[in-house]
Amino acid sequence: MNKKVPHDAILRLSFYLRALKNFEEENIKVVSSKQLADFLKINHHQLRKDLSYFGHFGKKGVGYPCSALIDKIKTILGLDKTWSAAVIGFGNLGRALSFYKGFREQGVYIKVAFDVDEKKINKEYNGIKVYSIEQLEKIIKKEDIQIAIITVPKYAAEEIANRLSKCKIKAILNFAPINLVTSSQILIQNVDFGCQLAYLTYHLKFLKP
Ligand code: NAD
Repeated sequence: MNKKVPHDAILRLSFYLRALKNFEEENIKVVSSKQLADFLKINHHQLRKDLSYFGHFGKKGVGYPCSALIDKIKTILGLDKTWSAAVIGFGNLGRALSFYKGFREQGVYIKVAFDVDEKKINKEYNGIKVYSIEQLEKIIKKEDIQIAIITVPKYAAEEIANRLSKCKIKAILNFAPINLVTSSQILIQNVDFGCQLAYLTYHLKFLKP
């Protein structure tokens, strides 16, 4: 991984990709950094700086060819490949994420799920088989899973993460309300919609009624 690229610049690439796809759908072949930035309501200097971390794109005064930049960003983000994922904890959130088509569209296929609930184990939902958590290591190896999505209760998350770090798993997307820490063996992204909501409620306080 290129350590010099700021974390937020990598996250913003996904927004640029989504915007470029919008332009392409409108049959727009070339887009300027200003057009792209205005569409996203961000500063075009920021956009150019973000892209510059990954090379030189487009022609000065002409703009970026949408299709080529889409391909380039997909390659940078690893979205030109397909990835196998597993959901650990097939409850409300785990199920919702498993059935979300958007992940497949970006090359991430949720192939299996794990749970402790006997009522769910050995059943198949929308083509996703739920296995007992006891089979975690065996199935992850058999299905060649690269990404784990943790949606178990807080008390179970750390032990699951420890077990995953001993498997071939390289990345975890963790939704449990506990900050799992990235190591040299495993990449971890902790996600908390509550933090995003708190950001909104913080700003809401300053709005006039
Ligand atoms: P849920 O109770 O509906 O689902 C949890 C599932 O995990 C259940 O099916 C349960 O049987 C299973 N489970 C429990 N222990 C397990 C273990 N050791 N191994 C495997 N499976 C196990 O809960 P939910 O509403 O889907 O929430 C799941 C988790 O996601 C919770 O930790 C919750 O706090 C968190 N969450 C996070 C966000 C966020 O923004 N990050 C949003 C919603 C929920």
